[in-house]
Amino acid sequence: MSKETPRPSCPICDSDVAPLKENRSFPFCSKRCKQRDLGKWFGGNYVVAGRPANPYEIADHVTGDSD
Ligand SMILES: [Zn+2]
Repeated sequence: MSKETPRPSCPICDSDVAPLKENRSFPFCSKRCKQRDLGKWFGGNYVVAGRPANPYEIADHVTGDSD
């Protein structure tokens, strides 16, 4: 039996995250969590030098599922 890839967990609330193709908020579980993450950035909790990591690029590597 082939085993399904385990779903990643939301970095904000640790809930299961639906795959990118059915989740426009990936890699977050929901739009709310995505906005919460953006809020952290704009809130100045992180100080970033240079180019920030793009979560969508990471997502591409995680899913390995492209058209
Ligand atoms: Zn979440």
